[in-house]
Parts: sequence; structure tokens; C-alpha cells
Amino acid sequence: DAHIVKVAAAKPLNAFLVETPDHAIAAAKAADDARAAGETLKPLAGVPIGMKDLFCTKGVQSAAASHILEGFKPPYESTVSQKLWDAGAGMLGKLNMDQFAMGSSNETSAFGNVISPWRRNDGGNAALAPGGSSGGSSSAIAARLCPAATGTDTGGSIRQPAAFTGIAGIKPTYGRCSRWGIIAFASSLDQAGPMARDVTDCAIMLEAMAGFDPRDATSLDAPVPQWEAGLNPSLAGKTIGIPKEYRVDGMPAEIEALWQQGIDWAKDAGAEIVEVSLPHTKYALPAYYIIAPAEASSNLARYDGVRYGLRDLPDGAGLQDMYAATRADGFGDEVKRRIMIGTYVLSAGFYDAYFTQASKVRTLIAQDFDNAWEQCDLLLTPTAPSAAFGLGEKSDDPLAMYLNDVFTVPSSLAGLPAMSVPGGLDKQGLPLGLQIIGKAMDEQGVLNAGLAIE
Ligand code: GLN
Repeated sequence: DAHIVKVAAAKPLNAFLVETPDHAIAAAKAADDARAAGETLKPLAGVPIGMKDLFCTKGVQSAAASHILEGFKPPYESTVSQKLWDAGAGMLGKLNMDQFAMGSSNETSAFGNVISPWRRNDGGNAALAPGGSSGGSSSAIAARLCPAATGTDTGGSIRQPAAFTGIAGIKPTYGRCSRWGIIAFASSLDQAGPMARDVTDCAIMLEAMAGFDPRDATSLDAPVPQWEAGLNPSLAGKTIGIPKEYRVDGMPAEIEALWQQGIDWAKDAGAEIVEVSLPHTKYALPAYYIIAPAEASSNLARYDGVRYGLRDLPDGAGLQDMYAATRADGFGDEVKRRIMIGTYVLSAGFYDAYFTQASKVRTLIAQDFDNAWEQCDLLLTPTAPSAAFGLGEKSDDPLAMYLNDVFTVPSSLAGLPAMSVPGGLDKQGLPLGLQIIGKAMDEQGVLNAGLAIE
């Protein structure tokens, strides 16, 4: 009940798009009943969580924070959300996000931006971005509206908002969590994962969310380890690599200092530190901003005014007019930008020069990581090149916005597990995040390192 009251009182943050108190209450009641009957409790019995609006939830609007899906109430439940309900959790509501998960600040939502509960310590009251695209999730957890939430991460959308708001979030290995019922952005990159206050809660959530699903063709057919039971903050015997190419030009001194602090914490926990090289890092961002829009342009072709949500049917209009009117009205500017870039890089004359080339670069980036694993077990980097920026600061400059993803995108292209954990505050009193990247399937190693340095 306390969480339901808080959600209702926190309207100015705009973190929740839909509130579903009955769902959360039903889960709490089920947990009470099980407790009264002396039954063993489910791992998330009664825990009220927030659900990113990208997940289809049966009978509850699932709009990916877009106008084109407004009013769409799926007749089915996504695999990941169903698994959370099966584990005993209840839903407080649907969380705001960047429209179709495209963005790094939550400002592309059709339903207004989310505000971070953090403020700079300069006495001002400037509203800050909660990060994106899972900005409703990060803001809601940081404001203590819910103890945990789902996120999705295509190029950093779990990790960067976690870093901006001082919480933890893990993107597991590509394929760990089923994509079935998650509104698609870039299918070869999209991964669900948990966001929570700390590493232990992320481990508990991820255990409930992960697992093979025959309805997702890229689902990993592997058992789900007991990550929570396996948590161990000692890094004795582990080697942690520091990728030198992540020391990008113009990196703020505070981010450098954060990174050094993380290195020291890892050493204190028993890790050996080595410098490694990921030589193709600088091509990751351009490759991502070709591959992700290309896949998005294909995935978003289904929003035609016929099948879901919005339909604009001007008087006397034909089918083509209806498509055009619906899509012009239903998609936001950033989504249209991605569709245009995506269709361009896939067009007959430019496919080889852009999409094929970006796919080759993606392979080289994955090979960089494979080579690094010959020298180390995990990698440690900052999560983002800055602390949270002000609302509106980057919204007119898409390239500046894209640059914020510089540290999160390479591991997404390689499909590797990666986590952001709180690394302390900068001079302005804002949280900064440290990122741990692991080998494919080594979520345990990532979580343990996160536990050691959070
Ligand atoms: N900021 C990146 C983008 O806009 C990543 C988004 C995401 O991970 N969903 O594409």
C-alpha cells in the first residue's frame, strides 16, 4: 500500500503512464495468504514492481510510450512479465520511456519527459534527465516508488539510466531473457533486464526473468543459474581488464576519477588489474547507429493503422493515405529519424556501403572482446561519459545524445552481459555509474564484481 500511495503522489516525476494498483494488491494478498498457510514463499512474493511500457501486459495499455500504440491493450502477456508474476511479483503500473526505446534521456516519449528525483547541489532546482530509454524505471526506483523494475537495453538503456540515478541495472547475455511480447526495436540487440537499488536485488529479479523460451528464436537454451545464491564479493583470482580505448578524448576529470576509484575498489576486493586493448571501439557507435535504425525501420513497418492502436483515416482517403496519415501523426521525430536512416542504409544502392559494412564492424568488435578474454575475466569502465544532463540540454542535437552511449554500445553489439553499479557522486552531488562487462553467459562474474564495487 505504501508504494501505491507513493506512486499516486509522485505524479510530477511522470514516471508512470498507467497505474495498476489492483495487480500489486492481488500479489500482496497472495503472499499474505501463502504466509498464513505456512507455505514456502515464492522468490518475489508480494513485491510491487514497475513494468517498462515496452512489455506487453495483458489487458493493460502497452504503447512503448508512442502515440501510434495509444490504446493498444495486448490480448497476451510477455514471457518476462509472466515469469515475474509466476515468481509472486505484482505490477504497480507501466513505466514511461523513450518512444520505442529510442533515446538516452526519456525526452522522446509521446507522453512527456520523466524527471529524475536528483538535483544538483548548487541550490538550483534544474530538472535533470533520468537517462533513457528506461527513464521511467530509473526515476521510479531512485524516488523509491518501487523497489525494482524491468528495463530493456538495446544500446545502453538499462545501464545509462541506472548510472544517472544512482541505482543498479544489468543487461544479461543476449538471449537470456525472452524477447517474446516485448515491442521490438532492434531485434538482434534488444535484451530485457532488471533495474533495482542494488546488485542483490538485480540478481533476484534476473533469476525470475531469465530462461529459455521456444517462442523466441534467439532465446538461449541454457539453464538459469542460481545467481543470488552464487553472489560473492571477493574478486580474488580474477583479472579485470581496463580497455585503454575507453579513455576517450575530452573525458571529464570526474569520470576519470570515478574509473580510478572503481579500479581501487576492485583491487581491494582482490582483483588483479591489467590494461587491455579493444582496437575497434571507436567504430562501435557509428555501426550501432546504422544497425539499430535498420532493424527498427523493418520492425516498425507493422504500424500501419490497420493492426494496432492509432488509425488516421482522412475523409475520402485511400489505403496509402491512411498509412501516411497514421504514421505521420503516430511516430515522434526521433522515431521518424531512425526509420529514415534505417530505410536509407538498407536501400538497394547503399546496403553494401552501410549495412554490410556495419555488420562487419560488429564482428570485429565482438572479436576484440574475444581477444581481451585471453587476458582477463571481466572489464571495468565508466557507464557513461557524463553525469545526468539537464532536460532540454541535448534534445535538439541528436548526435550529442548518441555520444552518451559511447561506453554501453560495444558490449551490446557483442551480446555480452554488462551491468552498471553506483560509483559515488560527482562534485555537483550527482550519481555516476561504473560498468562491468563479462564474457557471454558469465552474469555471475558480472554480478560478483558489481557487488564488490557497489
Ligand atoms: N540510446 C540508445 C538509442 O537511442 C540506446 C537505446 C536503448 O538501449 N534502447 O538507441
